[in-house]
Amino acid sequence: MRIVIDGGLCCGSGECIKACPEKAITLVDGKAVVDEERCDLDGLCIPACPKGAVGYDEGGNLGGCGF
Ligand code: SF4
Repeated sequence: MRIVIDGGLCCGSGECIKACPEKAITLVDGKAVVDEERCDLDGLCIPACPKGAVGYDEGGNLGGCGF
């Protein structure tokens, strides 16, 4: 599992950056990007985003049969 930020929705407000205690999010070309090495998956950035652009990617369960 990991945190994913939809670059199409991201408004670059930086609210997720302020919410992240691990300083795992930075703005790259005006869009928030997560450093997976730093992220501890606490999810604090998810409600912080005013655009709903941040969420968990469950990984591999997005349409496949799971095997
Ligand atoms: S899940 Fe937590 S540690 Fe990871 S980027 Fe979001 S606020 Fe930071």
